[in-house]
Amino acid sequence: MTQSFPTPAAHARDLLDTLGVPARPADAGQAVRSPIDGSILTHVAFDDAREIEAKVAAARRAFDAWRVVPAPRRGELVRLFGEELRAAKADLAALVTLEAGKIASEAAGEVQEMIDICDFAVGLSRQLHGLTIASERPGHAMRETWHPLGPVAVISAFNFPVAVWAWNACLALVCGDPVIWKPSEKTPLTALATHAILQRALARFGDAPEGLASVVQGGRDAGERLARDPRIPLVSATGSTRMGKALAPVVAERFGRSILELGGNNAMIVTPSADLSLALRAIVFSAAGTAGQRCTSLRRLIVHESLVDKVSDAVDTAFQRLPVGDPREGKTLLGPLIDRAAYEAFVAAMDAVRTEGGTVSGGERLLADQWPEAFYVRPALARLPAPAPCMQRETFAPLLHVVPYAEFDEAVAIQNDVPQGLSSCVMTNDVREAEAFLSAAGSDCGIANVNIGPSGAEIGGAFGGEKETGGGRESGSDSWKQYMRRQTATVNYSGALPLAQGVRFDL
Ligand code: NAD
Repeated sequence: MTQSFPTPAAHARDLLDTLGVPARPADAGQAVRSPIDGSILTHVAFDDAREIEAKVAAARRAFDAWRVVPAPRRGELVRLFGEELRAAKADLAALVTLEAGKIASEAAGEVQEMIDICDFAVGLSRQLHGLTIASERPGHAMRETWHPLGPVAVISAFNFPVAVWAWNACLALVCGDPVIWKPSEKTPLTALATHAILQRALARFGDAPEGLASVVQGGRDAGERLARDPRIPLVSATGSTRMGKALAPVVAERFGRSILELGGNNAMIVTPSADLSLALRAIVFSAAGTAGQRCTSLRRLIVHESLVDKVSDAVDTAFQRLPVGDPREGKTLLGPLIDRAAYEAFVAAMDAVRTEGGTVSGGERLLADQWPEAFYVRPALARLPAPAPCMQRETFAPLLHVVPYAEFDEAVAIQNDVPQGLSSCVMTNDVREAEAFLSAAGSDCGIANVNIGPSGAEIGGAFGGEKETGGGRESGSDSWKQYMRRQTATVNYSGALPLAQGVRFDL
């Protein structure tokens, strides 16, 4: 039986109240729509140039105070934020579902990812280690120290409306940097809610400077304004490759730093020794989960020619059976696309497959009678006899291309032969294939997995990809170093002044 829910607008209003977002005029500013039924949730005012200027200036002032707060104390703020997030997890996740259309489990997973990065960052706040380096000069000591960098702008995409900010913000805050967040114009409410949760942590923390964390609401213009601002030494931007190509030169022109987390075109190789039951589950989750709207979603399946029909048929059957519908329903595994433009891109991509000699099964629009302004689709499987130009592009929807291969080296070459380089995987029980895939001559992606799909990364590793994915790394490992400036210091504790490399300059 279909469950009944309050209207998305009423539900969002309740959640925003519960989460502590200050009351706002309901009908002024930009309309925010729910992809669940296309209805308007509320309106949000975009910041104008003067308001953005004030937030950047406040962040710059906050930096002077925050950079001298001891790092473990900065970690305490993030620890408190993690506590507040735990308390707000269910409500924030429900808002992610309303605004981004994620099913409940994935929305909860996204908030869990925020909590996980809080824990990681708290530990990190006592481990911002530098180096001591052997000096070639007698009586000299050399060391490398990491210092806070300055205000960090985080520009985020609609599909991870809150976690991507947290990956950046939690590291930036322990590293001593204020954070200015420009969320996607499609998901401004979850940003306001996250900001309200952070305000509670800041109130408990007590003496954090004003302007340490702010939200700039706006579209591309607001992002460009932050990209141009020389007071912001680091811009961490997540979104399409198109966005990255526009933003990167603007930041580079002023010698700013950028972390670019852009589009993916992720592949899986299925070899003759693969555990096919494991492979099938990995394929269906990573291709159809989140309605194919993850940067790491599986888009290309490269299957040994002896298995390609069997695997394709099994995927097709699984796609046909997937429950598509309202993401608030417990049984739903596939929610809506974000908007009409996403649906149109999906249709155009399926047309391109047909034009280029492939066949497509699935891909029908669903529930259009019930919700004409919402875009639910059956995942689509595109079978191609060989790699085609349509496989070079990222289509942000559940469209999976399948091609056969004969030799393993050929499969790796197909996997690498796209402009993007985010995530990749091989399903194999052959240790030679697994190691070859992970070797220097194997996958050229930032993420390479064995016997799991390409999506669903943990926060402990550095996340990001090569080529048109932008080269950025964020979240775990030593990604924190990008949020700090490195200083090499040499101290002479002798009475002499020997020069390096034996240079003589006798006065
Ligand atoms: P998008 O590029 O349309 O927008 C992303 C953000 O960039 C938004 O906040 C937008 O306002 C801003 N923006 C757009 N143009 C800009 C410009 N010229 N200067 C400054 N800011 C600008 O992306 P989207 O549709 O929200 O998200 C989907 C895309 O994001 C996909 O390509 C997906 O692969 C990618 N993505 C990548 C990662 C990753 O980690 N690699 C993670 C999530 C999403």
